[in-house]
Amino acid sequence: MPLKERISAFDGLDITPEQREILEAIREFVDREIIPVAKELEAKDEFPTKIVEGLRDMGAFGMRIPTEYGGLGLDLVTYALAIAELTRGWMAVSGIVNGQYIVGGMIAAHGSDEQKANYLPRLAAGEIRSCFSMTEPGAGSDVQSIITTAVRDGDEFVINGSKMWVTNGDRASVIALLVKTDPTADPRYKGMTALLVDKLPQVADQGGMKISPPLGKLGYHGVESIEISFEDYRVPVSAVLGGEDKIGTGFLQMMSGIETGRINVASRGLGISLRALELSLEYAQQREAFGKPIGHHQLIQKKLADMATRIEASKHLILAAARKKDSGQRADIEAGMAKLYATESCQRCAEEAMRIFGGYGYSTEYEVERLYRDAPLMMIGEGSNEIQETIIAKGLLKRYELI
Ligand SMILES: Cc1cc2nc3c(=O)[nH]c(=O)nc-3n(C[C@H](O)[C@H](O)[C@H](O)COP(=O)(O)OP(=O)(O)OC[C@H]3O[C@@H](n4cnc5c(N)ncnc54)[C@H](O)[C@@H]3O)c2cc1C
Repeated sequence: MPLKERISAFDGLDITPEQREILEAIREFVDREIIPVAKELEAKDEFPTKIVEGLRDMGAFGMRIPTEYGGLGLDLVTYALAIAELTRGWMAVSGIVNGQYIVGGMIAAHGSDEQKANYLPRLAAGEIRSCFSMTEPGAGSDVQSIITTAVRDGDEFVINGSKMWVTNGDRASVIALLVKTDPTADPRYKGMTALLVDKLPQVADQGGMKISPPLGKLGYHGVESIEISFEDYRVPVSAVLGGEDKIGTGFLQMMSGIETGRINVASRGLGISLRALELSLEYAQQREAFGKPIGHHQLIQKKLADMATRIEASKHLILAAARKKDSGQRADIEAGMAKLYATESCQRCAEEAMRIFGGYGYSTEYEVERLYRDAPLMMIGEGSNEIQETIIAKGLLKRYELI
């Protein structure tokens, strides 16, 4: 039985009528097109083709791409709240949109005019998809220790190495790929370059580029994460993000993508928490134990109160980080705080929902078991929460130095 009043990422927040209109449209799409089918698709680990088509028609793949390139040019606040609403339906869907957001954002911020004209209109229209690839089998948090190299040979780079956990990697037509162009550079980040590597979607063997089958995962089904290996794979020097004179700046370019990516992951955490609370409130008023609805037992009430408070706090941390970033200021501390808090909270909310549902929470018949499997990734991806803590602390020590 549905709730009389809805639980959303944006009700009660100080947003404009235009922002509300967009968020209402997303909300309606989620209720109509995503929630009714997510369980079945997730269980089969099936790519949500029809949902993706619907998102494409709505312009969702171009949410953050400037209007001059055919995108919607939305501010980060609207985007972040839209992602929370999409995740409320199913986390995989926001993961599919996210590749476009990070790579499109990086091309818009750092790409050459030619690269912008080549990629952005197609990305905005959802005609092609993109993926972001830094992580390697031997290096995740310590990004600067990657060992994939691109060695210059005339007008080309020759790439060798392996990349791990590339989400959207099979269906993508372009990879934002971080490589070492000068492995001896000191500091190490100055020897790193971002390349825009074109590829064919859904072709496993592309000569010197091989795409693995999807990696098995606890959750986050429906969107593929793959491994890519390169053996003497050649790309033109024009693939350098921003052009040849940006060789050696790739680490900073990728990190700028990651900073807004963290707000995006925080939003996904919020989306999971929203759904966990919504389902818990419904269930707690219907399931009876000891002669009354379980929602009338104080220990269940404590869980509901904790979840709702965490959701409210997550919303405001996300809003503060997104607003600061929208105003053109650096927001690494705020984005880190939003990511840390909202994703630790989503893990907690998913667990509390499972406890409220009792044995049924453990059943694949109920949605909360999916929330419980999807939530932990949010604490790991886009910089683990341990890394967020170091970013927040280092940022504080720098911002508040002694005189
Ligand atoms: C499903 C999935 C999808 C992904 N998609 C992508 C993608 O599209 N593109 C991409 O590039 N990557 C992707 N990743 C990779 C993800 O970003 C990394 O897994 C993450 O950054 C952590 O790196 P790691 O797994 O190598 O862990 P490690 O770096 O080996 O860390 C292991 C543990 O040590 C901790 N740790 C490491 N350093 C420190 C430190 N200095 N202080 C305290 N603790 C520390 C970590 O927090 C963690 O708990 C994905 C991962 C998964 C699981």
